[in-house]
Amino acid sequence: MHTPSAIFLAIGSLALAASVASLPSGSNATEGLSAEQCCTRLKGVLDSSQVLFPDSEEYDAQEASYYSGEQALQRPACRVTPSNAEDVSRVVKFATLNDCNFAVRSGGHMNWVGSSNIGEAGFTIDLEDMKRIELLDNSKTVAISPGLRWADVYSFLSPHNLHTAGGRSSGVGVGGFLLGGGISFLSLEFGFGSDNVVNYEIVLADGSIVNANESVSSDLYWALKGGSTNYGIVTRFDMATFPLTEIWGGSLFYNATLGPTFYEYLVGFTQRLSVDPHGLLAPILAWNAAEKDYLIWTPNAYLGPEAFPSPLYDGLQDIPTIRDTMRITNLTSVTDEIENGSPGGSRTQWFALAFKANAELPWDIHLKGDDIFKPFLSRPNTSWALTMQPINVGMIAAAKNRGGNPFGLTEEDGDLFLVLISVFWTDPGDDVDMKGATQDLLKWSTDTAKERGLFNRFIYMNYALNTQPVLESFGQENFDRMKEVKEKYDPRGLLNVWKGGYKL
Ligand SMILES: Cc1cc2nc3c(=O)[nH]c(=O)nc-3n(C[C@H](O)[C@H](O)[C@H](O)COP(=O)(O)OP(=O)(O)OC[C@H]3O[C@@H](n4cnc5c(N)ncnc54)[C@H](O)[C@@H]3O)c2cc1C
Repeated sequence: MHTPSAIFLAIGSLALAASVASLPSGSNATEGLSAEQCCTRLKGVLDSSQVLFPDSEEYDAQEASYYSGEQALQRPACRVTPSNAEDVSRVVKFATLNDCNFAVRSGGHMNWVGSSNIGEAGFTIDLEDMKRIELLDNSKTVAISPGLRWADVYSFLSPHNLHTAGGRSSGVGVGGFLLGGGISFLSLEFGFGSDNVVNYEIVLADGSIVNANESVSSDLYWALKGGSTNYGIVTRFDMATFPLTEIWGGSLFYNATLGPTFYEYLVGFTQRLSVDPHGLLAPILAWNAAEKDYLIWTPNAYLGPEAFPSPLYDGLQDIPTIRDTMRITNLTSVTDEIENGSPGGSRTQWFALAFKANAELPWDIHLKGDDIFKPFLSRPNTSWALTMQPINVGMIAAAKNRGGNPFGLTEEDGDLFLVLISVFWTDPGDDVDMKGATQDLLKWSTDTAKERGLFNRFIYMNYALNTQPVLESFGQENFDRMKEVKEKYDPRGLLNVWKGGYKL
């Protein structure tokens, strides 16, 4: 029996709350504190129980909960657990004043090492204790703190028959997902997750706690929709809610040989999303180590209680499945199912690529990837997967209608396929081979998309590798505008001590 897990192994302004005067005496930027000294002094900035040191149970538990095995093995000098925006402000002021390097973690799902954790030369701000959530504005918005995972958000919203444009896998963190855009089951109709954020509360480089929205700091508001770690630590996201009760969703599994047929279907499906934007399916063609063969796993949801609605799903029933969990249910049960099929813990490399919707290129990427990865697939716990995802003109228009974002996509780009390649292994001795092979497939896929006139410059942050020029891919104009916003809100470059994420 194929189980998803077997496969996806492969697969506002407020007053300043804290002042520098509250920092312990002796904080002095010229001293050049070691990471250990930064951590020792942080015990005087927050309650000492909020600073966790290596080998404490809480420190180890936070470390173990990263999705990437490599991130989990980084050993920061301490982990700091703020409870609210004021705590975050104190820590940011302390770190910038004392030149203490740090990383920030929300759900810990970013794939590359150092994206949200740091080694012994720094400390990690772990937002996991920031779990406030409340409905505002007659339930039209939900205020979400960055220590929450999407599972927490959905279980809060579900009794109200509401949903929001969050992750398709319950365990993903709110913070990273929204600062990279965020593709949701609601995205085809409402744009990226970040297009649905109506207000950010953020701690800026100088420690001030401010709001950014359409009418206040609107330049910052725009930039944060794809802002990564450049502007400050977001301490609250206010997101639009949508009524949602029953849906049709689950997983469809196919024999890998049906890849070409399925990609042909996906081209038509993507076109038809302009007529009906309520469905989203994303086939994952993955090496199934248990079966020593490839398999297609297609997580799928239609935002209404109707099976195979026409015309969107016309033709899908003709493609024979080998297993099918599709049912009338609620969306949370589908995001939980995807979560169960996507366990973390492996060493991993991901990359992102976008091109014009096309049936042949995905299959050719699969064939090339098989050539490249074949020599390694007999190694224990080694696997790779190709996920294809539609971004149609309707989604791009929806983003524009919600005020726009920095990604630089326009309706002239046409219907796109977004590729995610994910590679998994466990032996550190395989790092060079697996990372080299990933780069080989990235180069081949990019070159081939260009040769065939299909390439699109957009590199989706949430799926990208650290070597990919994500922010540059938003186009020169948007890149320059993002830099100007950064210079305005962090004119002295104080946030240079913040490591990880994609930097301007
Ligand atoms: C199993 C799985 C399923 C996924 N499904 C989806 C999906 O459906 N759609 C999609 O678009 N993506 C998806 N992703 C990708 C995911 O959105 C990214 O990995 C995202 O970065 C994860 O966010 P996080 O908070 O969990 O990660 P983290 O690693 O904690 O954070 C990611 C980055 O954001 C920064 N950051 C986090 N919080 C804050 C904050 N509050 N303020 C400032 N910076 C912050 C971190 O420093 C880091 O650089 C998935 C990933 C996995 C592993």
